[in-house]
Amino acid sequence: MCTYVFFSDSDVGPLIGGNIDDAAHWITQPQRWTQHYTLPELPASGLYVHHVGGPPCDLEEEPAEPFPFVPKYGRARNLDQAEQWVHQYKHFAKGPYQAGIMDLQSGEILQIEHSLGDGDARRVTNGVAFDTYGGNWSAKLRDLTSVDHPLRHYYNARIGYIERTIAASRSTLNVEVMWDVLMGHDPQGPVCQHEDSCPDGVNFITLCGTVLAPLLGRYWVRHIQDGKPPCQSPVKEFTFEPWTYAGGSP
Ligand SMILES: [Zn+2]
Repeated sequence: MCTYVFFSDSDVGPLIGGNIDDAAHWITQPQRWTQHYTLPELPASGLYVHHVGGPPCDLEEEPAEPFPFVPKYGRARNLDQAEQWVHQYKHFAKGPYQAGIMDLQSGEILQIEHSLGDGDARRVTNGVAFDTYGGNWSAKLRDLTSVDHPLRHYYNARIGYIERTIAASRSTLNVEVMWDVLMGHDPQGPVCQHEDSCPDGVNFITLCGTVLAPLLGRYWVRHIQDGKPPCQSPVKEFTFEPWTYAGGSP
């Protein structure tokens, strides 16, 4: 499940947004999901990896240990090598997953989709990238996975909302726009999904949303609190030493 959104060039440099969705019954077990919004690690290489669940597929069950290979992309020398790994190590990665990798130095982005032991990758050159659980931009993955699934329709509605929201603010990408995207409520596919409004065939809720500004040294979190969804909960701010490139290869 889940969503990620990258802005390479906001008013505070790169911005990385993400929502964590999970099965509704996990809401009663915070120890399962609070780990998701702890301060993420910023690799020395500057390749920041954000991954979410992949496309629905009848043939692929959720792995016991999700996405064990994906964080290793952060150890690649650069995006070219990461892209090479998508194809070279596709059988090592249990899927399904969707991932975005941003080179914090250059703002360049690589997007990956993976399912059924196969992967696809594309470079994004306009500084904006996003993906959300349930569908594919990759025609190859779309062909591999189920197309007649309620989550696919949900995915399309979410993607449509994200595209419209970003297009309306294209010249002023900032933290506020990022929250507008992550906390959006398109009726067919809310990016912030509440417990009481899940469409048929969709049984998950949004547990938290996070926004990371690596060069500013700020990390913001909104999560379910006191029975209220993330969009109605206060923003928590964390500060850290701003990321700077250490130089050389990791
Ligand atoms: Zn909401």
